Amino acid sequence: MKTPAFEVHMPKTLDHALEIAKDLHEGGHDFDWISGGTDLIPNYKWGINPKSHVISMSGVSELEGISTTRIGAMVRLQDIVESSVAHPLIVEAAGTIASVMIRRSGTLGGNLCLDTRCFWLNQSETWRKSIDYCHKCDEGTGADCRVIPNQNELCVATYQGDLAPALMCLDAQIHLASHRGTRSMPLEDFFQEDGITRNVLETGEIVTHIQLPENSADFIGSYQKLRLREAWDFPEGGVAFSVGVSADGSVSTINMASTGFESIPRKHKELIESLDKGPNWALEAERLGAELKRAVRPVLNTWFPPAYRKKMASVLARRAMEETSKRVTSG
Ligand SMILES: Cc1cc2nc3c(=O)[nH]c(=O)nc-3n(C[C@H](O)[C@H](O)[C@H](O)COP(=O)(O)OP(=O)(O)OC[C@H]3O[C@@H](n4cnc5c(N)ncnc54)[C@H](O)[C@@H]3O)c2cc1C
Ligand code: SF4
Repeated sequence: MKTPAFEVHMPKTLDHALEIAKDLHEGGHDFDWISGGTDLIPNYKWGINPKSHVISMSGVSELEGISTTRIGAMVRLQDIVESSVAHPLIVEAAGTIASVMIRRSGTLGGNLCLDTRCFWLNQSETWRKSIDYCHKCDEGTGADCRVIPNQNELCVATYQGDLAPALMCLDAQIHLASHRGTRSMPLEDFFQEDGITRNVLETGEIVTHIQLPENSADFIGSYQKLRLREAWDFPEGGVAFSVGVSADGSVSTINMASTGFESIPRKHKELIESLDKGPNWALEAERLGAELKRAVRPVLNTWFPPAYRKKMASVLARRAMEETSKRVTSG
């Protein structure tokens, strides 16, 4: 498999990067941002929507930097794992991503903007050609979706990034920039339920950093992941759970979020509302797990069948709550 040719742009500042994006867009050229390239380049190699230009952010220092409340988009995943200041829940989720070698290149921004995945799509060009392609990368054939046929508008490819649910459980805000200015939003509002558009990023807009609330150190949580091979596989399902603990030891906030079950990672506010924040919250693990199982809607496009992934949603939720409870008790 040969990687198709593309031109690489290497800006040294954020303004320059945004200017290049604007010029390419206005000149009618298509392009992608590239951070670590651990997702984008394999996709290009397989002929999945390659572009003729890529803008590398590896020289843009404004996107670096990690503190207790801010993580730059270009921070490498392994630097998060080895960080003494990153929140333990983020460290735990980052530590489950791929392998050390991939984490040394892969970044926070790339992980959040990860392309959605589907076993009809993440295949070689020859394989996809043999089935006449699919709607997400149809090579101009107008091919249908293989998972939900007889429509070629919606793509239900699965979002399989690990960091998003952990960050959602810490009430993270995501910050974006383009030549038009900057904006930010709660991370759960960044994702869009379509396997092709994936998120709210507009052409020429990038993720600059993640911001956590000042009190994020008061959150204690756990991330539980289902995957085929422990060595490096994407989540077939992942559940993060957290509680905010006040100075007097009482629980002030509860969060739960999932990944790997649908086209977007999801924060499950409606399920958490029914949970009693009193001292016995952990006793509701079975019930909450059963409710999460009912709430998630996996389709048949990853390794494990949807029925098994749904069942595992309840197991992962229970494990995440029980582990969080243990961590709260042990201080
Ligand atoms: C074998 C293997 C196993 C893997 N296992 C896992 C896993 O277990 N869990 C997991 O979560 N991931 C996994 N990955 C996917 C990937 O390695 C990581 O998600 C990684 O964090 C992607 O980051 P990157 O910087 O390499 O992204 P890139 O490949 O550079 O970019 C990914 C996408 O994000 C866009 N992008 C990148 N940065 C920005 C930005 N700042 N603003 C806007 N758009 C941006 C790119 O245009 C591209 O569309 C695996 C990959 C491989 C090859
Ligand atoms: S969900 Fe459908 S359109 Fe999307 S990648 Fe899979 S087969 Fe293609």
